[in-house]
Amino acid sequence: MRYFPSLVLAGLAIAGRPVGAQPPRATLFEGARLIAGDGRAPIENSAFLVENGRFTRVGKKGEFQAGGAARVDLSGKTVIPALIDGHSHIGYMRNLTSGAQNYTRENILDHMRRFAYFGVAASQSMGTDFGEMPFQLRDEILAGKYPDAARFLTAGRGLSPLSEIAPDNMRQAAFPVTTVAGARASVQELVPRRVKLIKTWVDTRGGAVKPLSPDLYRAIIDEAHKNNLRVAVHATELEQAKDLLRAGIDIFAHMISEVDDELVDLFKQHPNTTVLSALGGPRRAVYAPWLNPVHPLIAETVRPEQIARLQQRFPLKDPAPLVRSAASWERLAHGVAKLTAVGVKIGVGTDGGGQQGDQFLGWTMHTELENLVAAGLTPAQVIVAATRTTAEILGLDDLGMVTAGKSADFVVLDANPLDDITNSRKISSVYLRGVMIDRARLRAGFLNVPAGN
Ligand SMILES: [Zn+2]
Repeated sequence: MRYFPSLVLAGLAIAGRPVGAQPPRATLFEGARLIAGDGRAPIENSAFLVENGRFTRVGKKGEFQAGGAARVDLSGKTVIPALIDGHSHIGYMRNLTSGAQNYTRENILDHMRRFAYFGVAASQSMGTDFGEMPFQLRDEILAGKYPDAARFLTAGRGLSPLSEIAPDNMRQAAFPVTTVAGARASVQELVPRRVKLIKTWVDTRGGAVKPLSPDLYRAIIDEAHKNNLRVAVHATELEQAKDLLRAGIDIFAHMISEVDDELVDLFKQHPNTTVLSALGGPRRAVYAPWLNPVHPLIAETVRPEQIARLQQRFPLKDPAPLVRSAASWERLAHGVAKLTAVGVKIGVGTDGGGQQGDQFLGWTMHTELENLVAAGLTPAQVIVAATRTTAEILGLDDLGMVTAGKSADFVVLDANPLDDITNSRKISSVYLRGVMIDRARLRAGFLNVPAGN
């Protein structure tokens, strides 16, 4: 499956790629430990050939010839496929502020460059985009116009109950859904924009809002399926999660807050329903050692006043909310282990850029990997979740593995993440579409935001 017709792709690529950014026709990368994202044991002393932005041969060093190719020695390094973030909110955060006023092409590009800097090849914005600009920008990035930006995947406007929408929250972008006909019409508006999934919200927010009624979310799911689209739902409460499974939901955008045996059975009856992790909220409330002392990757990408604000918030200091967050984290972690044990496909989502304005885009991908290990997955399982599985959930046929035919998007690490998942942060270089991005240049731009903003 292609993102859009190849003629359009070719036209944009020629018009859009800056002069001088062309990679050599063929490059052979040799000597790295290769974790291919397919769940198999790593290939020690590997070799892989990249031609015209794609992997064409993958194996052990010396296994195949590549006469005429440029060579890159990666001895001592570990290579993983570029990571994929299945759940984010892009374009809203800008240093100390977060809101629709920041939602510009430039800010989205800044965010996608941050993802790339952190080794993330694609991020799925979950229902908080608006206007035509995001679809245009999505296509330009996919066509290669911005070689140092991660792919911006957009669900366009989500579908929300009226009670969730307020001018100062991100659901201001959403279609308000009040009738079955309106629900279907909103899905139909998204079809020609070539979104791959529809985002909706079904949550009482602890009793504070009136959620979408079952007839409305059933209409959304039915209309989406008629148009070959999947539906991703924000639904963290157990009873709603059960009914959404019965209704044929495709993707839970967050881990469900608790998992009982009936929910497990429903997942078994619906083996194609997947979950994106998004464990960061309760987790960073109780565990944020990377803030004190601040991790160098944060210090080099985030302005000091934004870091200071987060240091004040996390980890929580008041005993009561701290205990509550610790309990939610324990329930989430237990649920992840329980669903994983019965084979539910869990991908990685960060919910980065969300409303609190306190999540560092790109960085949160790496903390989420650590969260999943803390929940009981092995580092090897977590790397597959963050690459191949998330690519499958998002319908990204081109990404998620180092294997012949896929786009050559990969991360070179200075240490082995199978030994310690936090080694995913020891990034030596990042390649998108076969080209190494200039991380030093990106870094210089990230801190260049007006301090008062
Ligand atoms: Zn979200």
